Amino acid sequence: MQEKQYLMIPGPTPVPPSVVAAMSRPMIGHRSEDFAALHRRIQEKIRQVFQTSQEVFIMTNSGTGGLEAAVANVISPGDRVLALVTGNFGERFANIARAYGAEVDEVNFGWGNPVDLSVVREKLAGSPGYKAVLATQNETSTGVLNDIAGIGALVAETPALLLVDGVSGVGGIEIKMDEWQVDILVTASQKAMMLPPGLAMIGVSPKAWAVIEENRSPRFYFSLPAAKKALAKWNTAYTPNVALFFGLDAALDMMLAEGLENVYRRHLLLAKATRAAVRALGLSLLAEDHCASPTVTAVQSLEGIAADDLRKVLKEEFGITFAGGQGILKGKIFRIAHMGYAGKMDVLIAISGLEMALARLGYPVELGKGVRAAQEVFLGRDL
Ligand SMILES: *Cc1c(COP(=O)(O)O)cnc(C)c1O
Repeated sequence: MQEKQYLMIPGPTPVPPSVVAAMSRPMIGHRSEDFAALHRRIQEKIRQVFQTSQEVFIMTNSGTGGLEAAVANVISPGDRVLALVTGNFGERFANIARAYGAEVDEVNFGWGNPVDLSVVREKLAGSPGYKAVLATQNETSTGVLNDIAGIGALVAETPALLLVDGVSGVGGIEIKMDEWQVDILVTASQKAMMLPPGLAMIGVSPKAWAVIEENRSPRFYFSLPAAKKALAKWNTAYTPNVALFFGLDAALDMMLAEGLENVYRRHLLLAKATRAAVRALGLSLLAEDHCASPTVTAVQSLEGIAADDLRKVLKEEFGITFAGGQGILKGKIFRIAHMGYAGKMDVLIAISGLEMALARLGYPVELGKGVRAAQEVFLGRDL
């Protein structure tokens, strides 16, 4: 196996050298003035990414821990919850709510489809009394982007809180937490945020705080009131992953230097080129264009060529790692991530490798056809 590797999975994603360098700084105490200054800088920048004027709590745990924090702080046993499920991560969010004793009304829109707003409208009108609505911004398991602005407008008319899993979107796909009326927005370090795994970030609206303060579920490490109290002094409740804080500071600098609008445009362009290439090769995309994820593209397996065999050739012969399918899509799709520290040439490498792997497995591929389609998109000649 060659040593040079191309990691093209939806997390962990490649980490930029400047972020790696920032993380190798000597350790500092987390109760020091230096840490407070670092945390304060991070707050100013991350609120721009979340597009919120509220505090964003940075917790040392994976994204799922962030989702659990969201649930633990607002859901009490017996509360009714509406879960909008479009794939594996939507199901996980619903299961976390169940673990905290919620009575979950789960609506499954089908893997590969987005949330249908008319169904959400009906659900909210037909059965009032939901404490929270759970939604996934970018369903990583299917490569589907959901309309959080649309869901937010509907939920905001009710007393329910909107909890959004933005783990594979925030940092690569625009989200306006305040304007779109998201009550709790969760993301994590290892996807579009360009960091190693280990941090979750969680934004909380004033509407959510009113609920959090009355919540009866047990919470200790995941207590948002404890996090809030600590953040008032630019601190964290417990020892944070200081190295990842250094990295986050650097990653946010990179994002803001590029300009958030440009970051979002870049992801859209990479998705567009990937999709054009996949189509040019005669393969089928799982998600339709109108709901296609800007950060990850899911491709259906071909007749007679198992997605996992294809991934094996890609990895062993070319050092390229694509992700497989999850849950009911296991073996049925493969996923190409283009999130975070990803550029045009990464897409060309992915597609070029895909073409060669298909050829190895006997698929009648015209070499260069997919690469060319992606190049046309990058040159603006695809119109
Ligand atoms: C990766 C991911 C998660 C899980 O995050 P972990 O850091 O693995 O716990 C949750 N939701 C979505 C949408 C994801 O892509």
